Amino acid sequence: MVKENKDKKLLLRVENLKQYFPLKKTSIRAEQLYVRANDDVSIDIYEGETLGLVGESGCGKSTLGRSLLQLYKQTDGRTIFYGKTIDEMAPKYVLDILKKLPSLKREYLESAKKETELRAIYEKAQEGDDQYRALEKLRAAEKTAKDNLLDMAQLIGGFMLAEDLQAVSEILVNEYEASINAHKLRVKIAKETVKLEGLKSSLKEKGQSEAAIKKETSALEAKIAEQSKELNGVDKNIELIKSKIESMLDQYRSHPDFDKYHKLRDGGINLTKLTELEMRSMRKDLQLIFQDPYSSLNPRLTVGQIVSEGLYAHDIFDKRDKNAQEYILETLEKCGLAKYFVHRYPHQFSGGQRQRIGIARSVALQPKFIVCDEAVSALDVSIQSQIINLLLDLKEQENLTYMFISHDLSVIKYISDRVGVMYLGNIVELAPTADLYAHPMHPYTEALLGSIPTTDVDDNKKVYVLEGDIPSPIKPPSGCKFHTRCRYATDICKKVVPIFEEVTTDHFVACHHKLTY
Ligand code: SF4
Repeated sequence: MVKENKDKKLLLRVENLKQYFPLKKTSIRAEQLYVRANDDVSIDIYEGETLGLVGESGCGKSTLGRSLLQLYKQTDGRTIFYGKTIDEMAPKYVLDILKKLPSLKREYLESAKKETELRAIYEKAQEGDDQYRALEKLRAAEKTAKDNLLDMAQLIGGFMLAEDLQAVSEILVNEYEASINAHKLRVKIAKETVKLEGLKSSLKEKGQSEAAIKKETSALEAKIAEQSKELNGVDKNIELIKSKIESMLDQYRSHPDFDKYHKLRDGGINLTKLTELEMRSMRKDLQLIFQDPYSSLNPRLTVGQIVSEGLYAHDIFDKRDKNAQEYILETLEKCGLAKYFVHRYPHQFSGGQRQRIGIARSVALQPKFIVCDEAVSALDVSIQSQIINLLLDLKEQENLTYMFISHDLSVIKYISDRVGVMYLGNIVELAPTADLYAHPMHPYTEALLGSIPTTDVDDNKKVYVLEGDIPSPIKPPSGCKFHTRCRYATDICKKVVPIFEEVTTDHFVACHHKLTY
């Protein structure tokens, strides 16, 4: 379990993310095989940070970046986004859970009972293979119980203590439906208001008198006033329901377990449960910058069209809104592109400039989180630093959060606040950059860092060369996946998956024999 960090604001919480891609079966009876691109990844990403992700090619870095943006449907696990609240978005899955509270609680209690039984078996098991097997079973049961608990507790908090969840379900469903209604009304009013402003300014430009403008827009004004009145009524109703919920919750506040459950209620949005349409509207906040700037830009569109596409698709600007053009030019300038580039096509630019266009397209949407997937790897070294500095400047100005994926350890060291090291689908080590580079605790990180070319002539420096090939992600090695190449491997490494845990402050490692200093 990833620890909460009190000084920083959580933006994304990834829990036990799995991304398996099925392989085509060779015959009908053949076992279904999967490429296990991401295998149980848990990580917290904080607002305003750059999280570097490093590892050999094929380790699952890019898949992880895309999976947490939900560009691939996650096979398992939870990805919770805190950049928007459930109330703001009102996703459908919340309603489904609230309606099923009584049966979900039964499922949770059963899974918790199973976990207790398996813990007792594990504690009694003899040391050796029996104990390893019991431990694996216990871990699986712990995960099921935790998933069941979190799905509910994240939405109902202290109500987990209620014996009969039927009444709770009804009132929470009521509140939620009213919130969805309020949200829809707000969107409608916002759209009508933009329409009204557009109409007013075009009439003004045509030289119409105040009286004529008023007459022309009166029907739309009346419609907006009617919708606002309706919204007022819905908001008042929500207030009433909320205060009733609070007084129902008061019954459980003195219970010793109340805080334990209630603090799990956090208003985050589980991206894995969103519908396609909901996820599409969320894309504005979660952007991707690609490695190859040329193939990611439509060659038939001008720079202006490329940057404006998303702005119109996400209703940030109406197509008739004249401010859009000004905004696009400002964004180009912010990304180091001259304003007159706006009418040019991608093939007229150099690699570095194309990457700036890709960055402008993402940043224009004012996202909260950007995955930069090998964003500078295709560029000349001299251009790489310009793009990295642009990304760093934009991060400051726009309060962005990055996941920066690269196989280049020097680039990662320069740009990242924290670094995660991936091996065969898992994050094996995660720490603040300086700490990780100075004191790697995982043997794989030690080997990776040892492979950085250096000009230092230090005869005493031990160079440890990583031997052997990366095993197949279809049938990865048992226990610790690195055991086939690890010089510290022992019997337990072959049989038990090491837990990813915090060893020193903010330094997480998954290894049975962590390196010490
Ligand atoms: S768990 Fe064992 S095999 Fe894996 S990295 Fe640690 S020492 Fe090496």
